[in-house]
Amino acid sequence: MKPQQLTQTASAQNPVVRDAVLQHSVVVFSKNYLPVSRINIKRAVVLLVNGQAEALGFGTGQQWEVRSPNLVLVVPEHIRLIHTNPERFWKVPAVTRREVLRRDHHACQYCGSTRHLTLDHVIPRSKGGSHTWDNVVTACESCNGQKGARLPHEVGMTLSHRPKAPIHPALQFAEQFWQTQTLP
Ligand SMILES: [Zn+2]
Repeated sequence: MKPQQLTQTASAQNPVVRDAVLQHSVVVFSKNYLPVSRINIKRAVVLLVNGQAEALGFGTGQQWEVRSPNLVLVVPEHIRLIHTNPERFWKVPAVTRREVLRRDHHACQYCGSTRHLTLDHVIPRSKGGSHTWDNVVTACESCNGQKGARLPHEVGMTLSHRPKAPIHPALQFAEQFWQTQTLP
């Protein structure tokens, strides 16, 4: 029998398993061991085969065998990029309406309303407040009007979150990732 025929027989016997393996996803870590994203197993295979990533063994993770006609690759649930640090190519965005609304999940930071949104300077500009991430929040028209050119505590209003600059998407992913992990 020719090798090609052998391969066809093997995959024909096991089509369900092959497809099931390809449903899994893998967490990618940066060169600095920061979890940066979750990708499907096919993309992970490409990174491993091209030598752009290496298997990262925490000892506890799962791993899957991915077979092609001339290769059997063991793909772990965590891989690490060898050459690149995606977190380097990002800087804090400018304080624009779009970015502030995005950071605040399109909700008024005083009452939670998601309608008629405006930007509010927590310390009003007339009192020396700056147009910076820690002083600009999303506020609905009604709250903004009620507050006017005063400080929140002067009108009995409180912020639901302390405003701060958005963090790197990879750091955000990392935060969520570590929250879902249980330590052995
Ligand atoms: Zn409001």
